[in-house]
Amino acid sequence: MNKLIRQEIFERFRAANPHPTTELNFNSPFELLIAVLLSAQATDVGVNKATAKLFPVAATPQAMLDLGLEGVMEYTKTIGLYKTKSKHIIETCRILLDKYNGEVPQTREELEALPGVGRKTANVVLNTAFGQMAMAVDTHIFRVANRTKIAPGKNVREVEDKLMKFVPKEFLLDAHHWLILHGRYTCKAQKPLCERCIINDLCEYPAKAVP
Ligand code: SF4
Repeated sequence: MNKLIRQEIFERFRAANPHPTTELNFNSPFELLIAVLLSAQATDVGVNKATAKLFPVAATPQAMLDLGLEGVMEYTKTIGLYKTKSKHIIETCRILLDKYNGEVPQTREELEALPGVGRKTANVVLNTAFGQMAMAVDTHIFRVANRTKIAPGKNVREVEDKLMKFVPKEFLLDAHHWLILHGRYTCKAQKPLCERCIINDLCEYPAKAVP
């Protein structure tokens, strides 16, 4: 895929959705970090349901620690792997208070050193909470990048590196949201909705349905 086609793809994404953002609900970097920690192998809808009750009582690391592990689990028990995730939340809150004065750190190294925080979670926080150019490649982005050939790669890291290199700079901040939303609602894993896809004519997926 050449540069001009990538440019056109992201221009169409931007025209269709000028201000994309995550579907996770949050009011602060701390809340986003907690929501992303809970979101592994869970739906955003499921996480939002839990955090709608959790955040009003625990919107800071101290309030989360005051709630305690048992208290946090009461709010998270509807989410898969909630015991491990809740333990990570408590440990993370302790570190935020001990090392960062209760704030969420703004570097990849510091974020990835927090319990339960991997490269993808760090990328979401860097991008969505702090406005840094980072690409959190999830299953949706991996699929869309490979099918369309915007950034084909054998693993998530290869796709991430290619997206950072190939997505035109003016779109880099929002590209991750557009690609996730496109994968979630149009370029679905099973039965992609090619007929109503706004980038159908630019997509290089050999099996795409042409309207
Ligand atoms: S044309 Fe089909 S395969 Fe290509 S991006 Fe659109 S939905 Fe996905």
